[in-house]
Amino acid sequence: MLDTAIVGGGLSGLALARRMQKQGRECAVFEARDRLGGRILSVPVDGMALDLGPAWYWPQSQPRMARLIAELGLTHFPQHDQGTVLSLNDPDKAPQAYPTDGVHGGARRLEGGMASLIQALAANFPAGTLHLNHVLIAVIEQGDHVALHFRCGDSIRQISARRVVLAVPPRLLEEHVRFEPPLSEPLVQSMRSTCTWMADQAKVVVTYPQSFWRGAALAGNAFVGHEQAVLYETFDACNAAGDQAALGGFIALSPALRASFETGLSLLITSQLVQLFGREAEDGTQHRHDWATEIYTSSTLDQSPLRVHPSYDDPSLRRPWWSSRLYFCGSETAGYAAGYMEGALEASERVEFMLTAEPGAPGRGPMSGASYPSAIPGAIL
Ligand SMILES: Cc1cc2nc3c(=O)[nH]c(=O)nc-3n(C[C@H](O)[C@H](O)[C@H](O)COP(=O)(O)OP(=O)(O)OC[C@H]3O[C@@H](n4cnc5c(N)ncnc54)[C@H](O)[C@@H]3O)c2cc1C
Repeated sequence: MLDTAIVGGGLSGLALARRMQKQGRECAVFEARDRLGGRILSVPVDGMALDLGPAWYWPQSQPRMARLIAELGLTHFPQHDQGTVLSLNDPDKAPQAYPTDGVHGGARRLEGGMASLIQALAANFPAGTLHLNHVLIAVIEQGDHVALHFRCGDSIRQISARRVVLAVPPRLLEEHVRFEPPLSEPLVQSMRSTCTWMADQAKVVVTYPQSFWRGAALAGNAFVGHEQAVLYETFDACNAAGDQAALGGFIALSPALRASFETGLSLLITSQLVQLFGREAEDGTQHRHDWATEIYTSSTLDQSPLRVHPSYDDPSLRRPWWSSRLYFCGSETAGYAAGYMEGALEASERVEFMLTAEPGAPGRGPMSGASYPSAIPGAIL
């Protein structure tokens, strides 16, 4: 029987597997998609890696990300932020320009895209640790172990494990996975009210022959605040050297509107970019990703757009269940930086702390997520 099954091969699941593997503890990761990384997705285009999921981390307030990236020896570089920022609040007027010291607060990117973090993590596991195309459909408590049912193509595979860690957004688990015995109603409500961060979003990266905006002393940063906005925010997405050019943007239309405007969306994006950056912005190639259409990221409840960062403060998702056989992991369960990649790492740290804590061992405290010191003193996100 497997000791620990980790379901979800996103950052939190892989980071937890790495921590367990370092301690010589047996674990295996089961991932629904045919790739690892979850919301982390970098697409190779003409030698560039376009981040269609997360692109930024902030070393000053995200020490776990900074540490992991250093440990894995990955090359990072600052988000290009120099130059004038544009603001467009009236669709019939030209954008207004204002100088700033940058709007990304010291954000950094990874050379090779954020997926290089996932590749580096995955490279170090022993053969047989990672299982792709395993869609969890049921978790069944069976006394001294847990039975997991996975849909693998046309067949069902059953795995027995002493304990299971679910590194999957809680809303997806609540919607798609059968728990036996059923989870308590308050826990189900907690899962339903924990929105999956950015799961309603769509991102576009537009590649260009050259970074014409930099030549015009523009940062590439623009904010569009009017009701007909197509992109609500744009930014420079060039490679580290700046010799391969791209602009990135978040699409302002809701998931429902994106679906109904699908055929015209490219044209709308181009016209928004032209209004912001001029005629040269016509000359790009769009690479779009709509996370709301991804069944392993976005639940039905996540289809409603969020306007502010939600609070993730539910302790019931941070404690073990089923006599310490069932754990929740994933960024949305974090006590610090929830929703962000830093939160994914914090959650994996917390779960490892709980898994390795012997009940009553001196200095480790009770096996409760509530006792895990998640916050970084003095850090502000
Ligand atoms: C467009 C976008 C931009 C973002 N920008 C940033 C940013 O700049 N900085 C930042 O810090 N964060 C950003 N984020 C958030 C960041 O991506 C997440 O915090 C992080 O990737 C979460 O990792 P995770 O492992 O907790 O979850 P996920 O990456 O969602 O991993 C969960 C895994 O579970 C798998 N899974 C789902 N259902 C099942 C099932 N039934 N059976 C088996 N496996 C299943 C999924 O396929 C996935 O691999 C962004 C997200 C998006 C979408």
